[in-house]
Amino acid sequence: MSVETTLRGSRCAGCDNVAFPVAVGCQRCGSAEVTAVDLTGRGTVWSHTVQRFAPKSPPYVPPAEGFTPFAVGYVELPEGVRVEAVLDCSDPAELVGAEVVLVATEPVPRFATPAWLDRTSAPSPQEQAR
Ligand SMILES: [Zn+2]
Repeated sequence: MSVETTLRGSRCAGCDNVAFPVAVGCQRCGSAEVTAVDLTGRGTVWSHTVQRFAPKSPPYVPPAEGFTPFAVGYVELPEGVRVEAVLDCSDPAELVGAEVVLVATEPVPRFATPAWLDRTSAPSPQEQAR
């Protein structure tokens, strides 16, 4: 199974505006001359909040172990577009102005903080003891 970790957006030929997801026309100038582009997989948290209750299901599918609160927000990419995403973090306080990395695109965009990635890639205490 390959995991697609590139977000596709579109850029307007007339005014250079970038949109996500791919738009059929420019939201800024109305031009129909837009081309699909790969977006940068890193950005800055623009704003976030914590989802403290389970969203309506469907479309939300709660995990087998039950719902746990998670962070959601907007990530501003270098292209100037803001992408709504789930935000993986060790503590929501670390999300303020944080640099985050794209980790998944389906079913929704998902970004993670460096601290969260360090924690999840670090060997467990049992592995370290070996
Ligand atoms: Zn435009």
